[in-house]
Amino acid sequence: MLTAEKLEKTYRRHAVQVRVLNGLNLEVQTGEFLSIVGASGSGKSTLLHLLGTLDAPDAGRVMLKGKRIDNLPARERDRLRNRTFGYIFQFYHLLPELNAVDNVLMPAYIGNSVLNWWQTRRQWRRRAEDLLNKMGLGHRLKHRPRELSGGEMQRTAIARALLMNPRVLLADEPTGNLDAQAGGEIVRLLRDINRDEGVTIVMVTHNTDIVSATDRVVRMVGGVVTDDTPAPHQPFQPRLAAV
Ligand code: ADP
Ligand code: MG
Repeated sequence: MLTAEKLEKTYRRHAVQVRVLNGLNLEVQTGEFLSIVGASGSGKSTLLHLLGTLDAPDAGRVMLKGKRIDNLPARERDRLRNRTFGYIFQFYHLLPELNAVDNVLMPAYIGNSVLNWWQTRRQWRRRAEDLLNKMGLGHRLKHRPRELSGGEMQRTAIARALLMNPRVLLADEPTGNLDAQAGGEIVRLLRDINRDEGVTIVMVTHNTDIVSATDRVVRMVGGVVTDDTPAPHQPFQPRLAAV
């Protein structure tokens, strides 16, 4: 589904150079729920940004279903970001002035022409409300972010990420700001979305409790990835029982 080939990325700040990705290779299978772990500063967010075309590599390629996507013209790249990928961040990135439904609607608002939006807005609103209902937020539709708990904000952000029916969800420390219970609920939701909708998920986390809910774990060390999934005979639970 999504492949990183020999990715290199160096950040330059004045005289300081930080080499973050060092010829990194990674293959994400269709329908897989993959987690990426690694020390703080090991380049997990950088990798996720490159996979989702939010940033470009210095060298190497990112392929989506066999098509190169790291060097697309802005228009095609914007469409990909709007339709194909869904993004989930640690700090939610909800717009504080908008209620939950309007936050969830943002990708449709951005991704449609004015005329198209005007003609289809009722269907979009219904879809946004349905998604929030599925996230267990049917009673929070008109709440603004500051009136929601952390877990509720993240569930709103997940509904927003799903609005355009993406094929790949990219989640950067989605439970990083939540307590164990709210974090467990988020991972359970992601697990359900992955299983029920067949959405491929790449999740960055340093929470070792929640990786047990995912299909495969890779670790970033020295700007490359190593397979971290325990052998099958070890107590590895692909479902969420441990959370
Ligand atoms: P992680 O998500 O694993 O904590 P990041 O990908 O955020 O790691 O960052 C990897 C390294 O790159 C860190 O040392 C960080 O300071 C540096 N870095 C990240 N983004 C930038 C940037 N925009 N400019 C300069 N350095 C950066
Ligand atoms: Mg990070």
